[in-house]
Amino acid sequence: MERVDVVVVGLGSMGSMALWRLAAARPDLRLLGIEQYGGVHFHGAYAGESRLFRVAAKEGRIYTPLLVRSRELWTELEQASGREILLKVGALSVGPAGHPDLDATLQSISDHDLPHETMDAAELRARYPQFHIEADDVGVLDVLGGGTRSEVGVLAATGEAIRLGAAARFGVQVDGIDVTSDGVRVATSEGDVLADRVVVTAGPWTTRVLPDLADLLTVSTYALTWFMPRHIERFTPDRFPGFMRDLGGVHAFGVPTLDGYSIKMCPQVDLDEVADIAARPPGLVREQLVWVGEQAVRMIPDLVPEAVRWSVHSDSKTAARMPVIDTVADGRIVVAAGMSGNGFKFAPVYGQALAEVILTGDSEWTRPQFTAASHREAAVPV
Ligand SMILES: Cc1cc2nc3c(=O)[nH]c(=O)nc-3n(C[C@H](O)[C@H](O)[C@H](O)COP(=O)(O)OP(=O)(O)OC[C@H]3O[C@@H](n4cnc5c(N)ncnc54)[C@H](O)[C@@H]3O)c2cc1C
Repeated sequence: MERVDVVVVGLGSMGSMALWRLAAARPDLRLLGIEQYGGVHFHGAYAGESRLFRVAAKEGRIYTPLLVRSRELWTELEQASGREILLKVGALSVGPAGHPDLDATLQSISDHDLPHETMDAAELRARYPQFHIEADDVGVLDVLGGGTRSEVGVLAATGEAIRLGAAARFGVQVDGIDVTSDGVRVATSEGDVLADRVVVTAGPWTTRVLPDLADLLTVSTYALTWFMPRHIERFTPDRFPGFMRDLGGVHAFGVPTLDGYSIKMCPQVDLDEVADIAARPPGLVREQLVWVGEQAVRMIPDLVPEAVRWSVHSDSKTAARMPVIDTVADGRIVVAAGMSGNGFKFAPVYGQALAEVILTGDSEWTRPQFTAASHREAAVPV
């Protein structure tokens, strides 16, 4: 049977980064990444052109130092790969004064002294006339935020890992993982591999590989939609930021045009949460698309109210909407899952955490709240 030091199961957002950070730290080890699809693909939680990136974390104060480190690692990956991954356009939050997400963003900014700008309604209208602004709206610009080109990030990290000596197999499915006295046996569609340690980064497929986590993980699905502005020149990255917009109880997010004809603008539709990805909603129905178009134009009046492109993608989710990053089987298996619709921005720092836990048993880049036990007890406050 083939023997290696570490197998990484799933080379998507977290797995590509874990393989890269492992290869960067220990190029002497036999490292093997196994991915059921191709090197980048449409099925993963990262698919769909771009992801928002923020440093000011509205999710809670434990996250901001992770995001600062993540940004450094994104920059390192850009330099190593020669690819542009970070969209350095700023991340603008707009909503009614006192909205909990805006307050949490401001808290993160003040806790960590982050570069930012705040704007009242008049300032927002003057600076970002693309948005419809209500009298009680305020804006917060996270200057270090913006977006990421998500597929480029995954391709770059996997490519760097391979360049540093790791092996990667694509189109190979992991069917099971067993801990034996000899090591961890990874059963794949192309035969078994024995590893000293295994990283499981299988995203919304995680419970198929680690069924013991089924009580913690569900599969949530989100829609991405793109609309054509009548004046595309107002939505180029030099004039338009990544954004989150809360208006009348509807939350939307988006990024400037990357294709030169449309912008990503995603008013959030409620889609069913399911136990297994096979049961996820297959797409949007006409009624949902009409609603999304109405919301998009209400927030950005220059848009034509009909999506020119849309897709749905799934992520693994926990009840607390914070990840599970933990060891299983005496530390021989390390898992990262439950990214809950906001994990991409953290991918390099969680990859670093996984690599450190595999190599040393611990990492400053994970948090006690992320353990499976903590999720089960819901005992540690954020
Ligand atoms: C529509 C949408 C919008 C989002 N927007 C944002 C955003 O703006 N900002 C942000 O930070 N985050 C965002 N997120 C969240 C973020 O994209 C995810 O949290 C992140 O991509 C999850 O990464 P992952 O590694 O867990 O899963 P994935 O990236 O899906 O990786 C899992 C990989 O494992 C492979 N795999 C699974 N099972 C097996 C197996 N048995 N054998 C071999 N390979 C296997 C899969 O094929 C896949 O490549 C969004 C998510 C979605 C779905």
